[in-house]
Amino acid sequence: MYDVQKIRADFPILSREVNGKPLVYLDNGASAQKPKVVIDAITKGYAEEYANVHRGLHYLSNLATEKYESVRGTIAKFLNAASEDEIVLNSGTTEGINMVAYGWAMPRLQAGDEIILSVMEHHANIVPWHFLRERQGVVLKWVDVAADGSLDPQAVLDAITPKTKLIAITQCSNVLGTMVDVKAITTGAHAVGVPVLVDGSQGSVHAPVDVQDINCDFYAITGHKLYGPSGSGAIFVKKDRMAEMRPFIGGGDMIKEVSKDTVIYNDPPMKFEAGTPGIVQTIGLGVALDYLMEVGMDNIAAHENALRDYAAAKFKGLNWLNIQGHAAGKAAIFSMTLQGAAHAHDISTILDKRGVAVRAGHHCAGPLMDHLGVSATCRASFGMYNTTQDVDTLVDALELAHDLLA
Ligand code: PLP
Repeated sequence: MYDVQKIRADFPILSREVNGKPLVYLDNGASAQKPKVVIDAITKGYAEEYANVHRGLHYLSNLATEKYESVRGTIAKFLNAASEDEIVLNSGTTEGINMVAYGWAMPRLQAGDEIILSVMEHHANIVPWHFLRERQGVVLKWVDVAADGSLDPQAVLDAITPKTKLIAITQCSNVLGTMVDVKAITTGAHAVGVPVLVDGSQGSVHAPVDVQDINCDFYAITGHKLYGPSGSGAIFVKKDRMAEMRPFIGGGDMIKEVSKDTVIYNDPPMKFEAGTPGIVQTIGLGVALDYLMEVGMDNIAAHENALRDYAAAKFKGLNWLNIQGHAAGKAAIFSMTLQGAAHAHDISTILDKRGVAVRAGHHCAGPLMDHLGVSATCRASFGMYNTTQDVDTLVDALELAHDLLA
C-alpha cells in the first residue's frame, strides 16, 4: 500500500509555506525535491567523509572513492544494466548526450548522414545534434507527434533511410508527458543496423527502466529529477558502443599514463570521466536511487498514474483550460494554456500566490512549441509525493487565474 503521507514526511521542504500558503510543489519536471536521506548523505559527505576520489592513498580518499564508485553499481541496478562497466558517471543528461555527440557521433558521421529526432525533444537532445549539422553537414530529420501528442514508433522507423546513423529520442516528453514505446523503436532500428539513444531524463523518473529489455545503445539520466542532487547523473552505454566511442573531455582520471608524446587512456567507463567529479552529488544520487528502489518504481508509477487520472478528470470540467497532449499512458505532466490571451507567466504568478509552484515558458522544447503553435505553456508536473489535494489546490488556483485574467 502506497502511503503518500509517509513519503511526504521524508521530504522536509514539503512542510514549508510559500507566500503564506502550504507549498504545493508541481515543478518536478524541472527538478524534484530531495528526501531527508539524500540531504543527510550530502551533509555527512562533506562533514565527515570528504576527500577527492581515486587518487589518494589515505583513509578519507579511500572511503570517498568506495562510496562514489559504489554508485555505479546502484545505477546499473536501477536501470537493470548487465554490468556497471556500462555506466558513465557525469553531471546529468545534458553532459551525457553531449558525450555521445562528441565522442561517438562526431568521428563517425559525415555530411549527408542523418539523425532522426522527434519534434518533442528537449534542447539537450537537439542542440548537440545541431552542432553536427552546423559543423559537419549532418542532416536532422524530424518526426512529428500526432494530434493527441502520441508518437507512433512506426513513424520514427519510416523515417530511416540508408543514410540514417542514429535515432535520438526521448522516452517521455517533458512538456506533454507522452511516453514513447522506445523498445519498438530499438527493435525496428536495430533490424537495419541503426543505434538508438534514449533521453531518459523524464522517463526514468515515472516508471521502472530496463535498459536490457529496451535494448537501447545509450540511455541518459539526470540525478536532480530523480530526487537526487543537481550536478549528478549518468549515461548507460552498451559495451559495443562504448568500444566505438572516443573520449570527450580530457584530463585527470581518464588516463593510465601521459608523457610528452603519448597518452594511454583508462579503461572504459573511466576513460570517459575526466577531472574531479561531483563526488558528494553522485553519492547523494546513489542514496536517492536506493530510496526510489525501496519505495518501488512500480508503486511510484501506479501512484502517479492515479494522480494523472484524477487531475485529467478535474481538468475536463474546466472548459476554458487547454491541455496539450492526451496520449494514452502519458506521465502526470500537464502543459496548459487558458483560452484567450492570458500569458503562461501571468498564470504561474497567480498560482504562486496560492503556494502552487509550476513552470511557465517554452520548457526548452522550441520545435514542439512551434508544432503546437504556442510560445509558452504553464506546466504542472507531478511527483511521487503529490496528492489529490494538490490537484484540488491547483484547480482552485487555476479558477482564480481564469477569473482574474479572462
Ligand atoms: N531531457 C529532458 C526530456 C528533460 O526534461 C531535461 C531537463 O529538463 C533534460 C533532458 C536535461 O536535463 P539536465 O538539465 O539535467 O541535463
